[in-house]
Amino acid sequence: MPASDLSVNPTSQTSFECSNCRTTTRRFWGEIVENAQTQAVYYVTWCKQSSEHYPRFDLLIGSWGDNTSADDRHLVAVEFRVVAGEPSFMVIDAQIDRYRPLASMALRRSDVIGTPDQSRVFDMVDAIWFGDWLIEEMHSDTAKAARNS
Ligand SMILES: [Zn+2]
Repeated sequence: MPASDLSVNPTSQTSFECSNCRTTTRRFWGEIVENAQTQAVYYVTWCKQSSEHYPRFDLLIGSWGDNTSADDRHLVAVEFRVVAGEPSFMVIDAQIDRYRPLASMALRRSDVIGTPDQSRVFDMVDAIWFGDWLIEEMHSDTAKAARNS
């Protein structure tokens, strides 16, 4: 169970052809809320049929709403893997490219790991993993991977 007061409002999902692996990408997004305040907007990108790259959880962390701008938010990217049958998350270097209108800065792994932000990031990923019903299918996919390993 999530150890924080963060909750998740899944917003929507879409699918399109991945420009890297040419299979279908699923994208889920929503917001992470604490004390009725949006703490982050997240995007999960998942190419189910691809073994070329891992699902990625992109977190746009900071202030949202009126009188906020990209300068109030930074991007953290977390890769999802199944390790020994268990879901596992790893912070990677974020790429700002397509998020530039939404956030002004992308954090590298070294900007997050070993800093006070680290546990916050993992609490957020945890909240998404347990709170976004759109991601249910990723759970069952993980269970399948565990059986096959
Ligand atoms: Zn892909």
